[in-house]
Amino acid sequence: MKYLSTRKNNEYISFKEAVINGLTKNGGLYVPERIPEIPSDFFEQIESYEDLDIAFTVLKPFVEGSLNDEQLKSILAETLNFNIPVVPVEKNIAALELYHGPTQAFKDVGARFMSRCLSHFNADEDKEVTIIVATSGDTGSAVANGFFKVPGVAVKILFPKGKVSAYQEFQMTSLGENIHAFEIDGTFDDCQKLVKKALNDENLRTKKSLSSANSINVARLLPQMLYYFFAYKQLKKDLKGKKMVVSVPSGNLGNVTAGLVAKRMGLPIDKFIAAHNINDTFYTYLNTGEYAKKTSVLTYSNAMDVGDPSNYERIDYFYNGDLESIKKDVAACRIDDEATLKEIQECQESNNYTLDPHGAVGKLALSELLKDDEYGVFLETAHPQKFATVMKKALPDFVEETADLKDCHKTHLANNYEAFVKEIC
Ligand SMILES: *Cc1c(COP(=O)(O)O)cnc(C)c1O
Repeated sequence: MKYLSTRKNNEYISFKEAVINGLTKNGGLYVPERIPEIPSDFFEQIESYEDLDIAFTVLKPFVEGSLNDEQLKSILAETLNFNIPVVPVEKNIAALELYHGPTQAFKDVGARFMSRCLSHFNADEDKEVTIIVATSGDTGSAVANGFFKVPGVAVKILFPKGKVSAYQEFQMTSLGENIHAFEIDGTFDDCQKLVKKALNDENLRTKKSLSSANSINVARLLPQMLYYFFAYKQLKKDLKGKKMVVSVPSGNLGNVTAGLVAKRMGLPIDKFIAAHNINDTFYTYLNTGEYAKKTSVLTYSNAMDVGDPSNYERIDYFYNGDLESIKKDVAACRIDDEATLKEIQECQESNNYTLDPHGAVGKLALSELLKDDEYGVFLETAHPQKFATVMKKALPDFVEETADLKDCHKTHLANNYEAFVKEIC
């Protein structure tokens, strides 16, 4: 499989190069040159396959030429070492819980897959790779954990001081060894700017082999397709003729993009819902046909506070910019903070099911848009414990697990590029 830029420039490269480069030379995102179809008898028998066999069948064509069968199997076995269960919540609605990985958010799957690919690709090099990543919380913890003790890789995480939850900070800073966290005097955007500047710094790049574990990397995007296959496998017997609809709490639209690719491979999901908080750029785009990026606004579901979702560019590419065909496959919904809190309360009372703020946005979107002939699944993208402050606002009885921050490894830095470069060299 070859990869090319969404802003076509005749650069066709391998999966390996796409993973190492992260970003294309012309500012676009890498996409596979084609989306392979899986024969329909695979879906007819899907219950009889092991998850690892499903994962292998789905991802094999995408890594062909860069990983052989044995390598892919071993990377998948290390990536998927936790449960991804479908849990019924109320009539015709179930949760797909993606938070049973080591850092309790769905980003574990992509981060683990990418780290192992990169370590494999770097095995013949004598130079260590340095991964730099900016985070507002979940990405940093997933990347830290995913790359922990991975040979040949050092990780530098930048997070905005005082703006991540105690639990997230603990997950990023407690590991040590090859993982180094920096708390920056500034915002997430400041962290992001430092990372981008370093990645584009020719001088620095002659000294260091730098890469990013940003969510735009194809090695983080592609394994996210697997959730949807696993969900279908578990739900198939309960669908009873109803169409399957999946609601995806969305920020950068990576998860929903992976779902759309899975659908195009033949997975029988009728429709996706991109469930947004008030950061509604994509929602507005679907309604008006105009894509206008915005400045992000802080909400209770802060992992989705994105004003210019990066994967919009991939969706636009896959559908040739045709709004009507995008709308056939994906609808969007916009849920504000007040409705999010109320949904957490109501779901607890009526179903005895604890939603996290992101899952609450996903479930409420489903309740608003689901039709009688449909069965809905929403993704529970993070464990409620990761967002304890919000949870306590919604549920007075919510008990926060305290994180012991005393063994943490972090360096405090001013928002200053030279100081940052000194630290990573
Ligand atoms: C990252 C994240 C999202 C948003 O996912 P995208 O792929 O960026 O749309 C949703 N929920 C949680 C908990 C996240 O960490």
